[in-house]
Amino acid sequence: MNALDTQAQQALHRLLAQFGLSLEPGDTPCSNWIDGNLVAGQGDSIALTNPATGGDLVSYRDAGADLLDQAVAAAARAQLEWMALTASERGRCMNAAVRRLEGHEEDLAQLESVVAGKPIRDCRGEVGKVREMFEYYAGWCDKQHGEVIPVPTSHLNYVRHVPFGVVGQITPWNAPMFTCAWQLAPAIAAGNGVVLKPSELTPFSSVVIARLLECGGLPKGLINIVNGLGPTTGAALTGHDGISKLVFVGSPDSGRLIAEAGARRLVSSVLELGGKSANIVFDDARLDDAVAGAQAAIFAAAGQSCVAGSRLLIQRDIFDAVVERVGRAASQIVVGLPADEATRMGPLQNARQYQRVTAMIERARAAGARVVTGGQRPEGLPPGADGYYLAPTVIADVDASMEIACEEVFGPVVVAMPFDDEADAVRLANATRFGLAGAVWTQDPARAHRVAGQLRAGTVWINSYKAINVMSPFGGFRDSGFGRSSGLDGLREYTVPQSVWVETGVEASVAMGYGSGAD
Ligand code: NAD
Repeated sequence: MNALDTQAQQALHRLLAQFGLSLEPGDTPCSNWIDGNLVAGQGDSIALTNPATGGDLVSYRDAGADLLDQAVAAAARAQLEWMALTASERGRCMNAAVRRLEGHEEDLAQLESVVAGKPIRDCRGEVGKVREMFEYYAGWCDKQHGEVIPVPTSHLNYVRHVPFGVVGQITPWNAPMFTCAWQLAPAIAAGNGVVLKPSELTPFSSVVIARLLECGGLPKGLINIVNGLGPTTGAALTGHDGISKLVFVGSPDSGRLIAEAGARRLVSSVLELGGKSANIVFDDARLDDAVAGAQAAIFAAAGQSCVAGSRLLIQRDIFDAVVERVGRAASQIVVGLPADEATRMGPLQNARQYQRVTAMIERARAAGARVVTGGQRPEGLPPGADGYYLAPTVIADVDASMEIACEEVFGPVVVAMPFDDEADAVRLANATRFGLAGAVWTQDPARAHRVAGQLRAGTVWINSYKAINVMSPFGGFRDSGFGRSSGLDGLREYTVPQSVWVETGVEASVAMGYGSGAD
């Protein structure tokens, strides 16, 4: 074990102790939050590795089926309690709950940085998003009006948006706090109880958030966090009879399993999956902005972002110049330890992801692609930083049919491809099974809107990248999933329209069949 491992273990222990998850070094941390209690898992041990060093970090135990049963039962009971409050009370309660995060922001950011391997400055930003999401959806609690339908009979027919009951949520490792708050906030604002399973690779921050929120006044048991592997605790969650809706954020392969599990029980799902987003640069674009945008699009979070702009489509007459500039800028990105304030890009989160990404680069090389920059471990890392580091990588001379150009890499790797004109750009951008996001860089506003309208992507940016806010709907087409998160659309995914018919006629009678009631 090197000095960095010791430091990370000590930091993690301090943080787990601070949040009450593990009091003694070497203890099995309590990795579940169930019915208002911190609980250790009952299943097999799961070992976490330090992304920055590749060394041991801590072990915890898979939750197991019994704890999951307890979590679902607690959520079902608390949901009734929650719905017994008025809508305004629920909104006030959510606002009060999220204020409980105050004073813990830095520790939460540190916890996420150590376990997820993300730069500390990015983690601080993520904590801010947690607060924003709860405040936004708290505001919706007392604004979920129904509708009155002008039916052609003497009935008053109104529709209200009622909660499902208990929803099951499953999240990935790339932005654990963000995805946790992103789905918890609308679920409870809509009146549901929740059981959420974070990625087995980043288990703790969701537990801490749930605990702080509940200490801030949410009903005991309304939010439950269970941690464990996908095929064990995850599968038990998707198959649980007490769960009435599934919301999944993760890879297309797992998304298919979740949708199938839901379909078997006739439970609907929302799937927020991967992407292969096109970042299109026309020759009339402001190139300084486009080059900066290309960096932000792919190298933020070391490319481990669903909306990563992993295909850089550049108009042919400026192709070489832009590739050269993007490559040069990429080689100047500060890659370093997650805890270092100067770090702009950290390691990949785990060994499996690192092997997947590096193998894809090797296969691209073998297929004739040219690595413009990166493609190997970055230089200048401190001693002991033996984790999953990969230099920002730009690849050119690729064919649209190559694996590196079609499959989601989920790492700091962008492929640059030339296009001839607008139609060619749209054709290339849409030549993918994914449809999550995309961007257009041009100074011609008409062209910008024309192209945006033709992209089959749930989010499109014009002269920008990665502007995302909880107010605006987010989601994909095809292999990027279905359903929407954020905004009113995201809230509606957590409710069912209930139609209520009230007879108001003076001499009304109940009709047999589809009669008017007069026969
Ligand atoms: P993953 O699919 O491997 O795992 C995601 C979650 O699913 C984890 O909690 C995992 O334990 C669980 N899981 C796996 N198999 C399961 C099963 N059989 N039953 C129940 N649960 C199961 O994804 P990942 O590697 O953690 O995350 C990376 C992927 O997530 C990328 O494809 C990325 O694009 C995607 N992602 C999408 C969005 C979005 O909003 N569209 C956001 C973030 C990440």
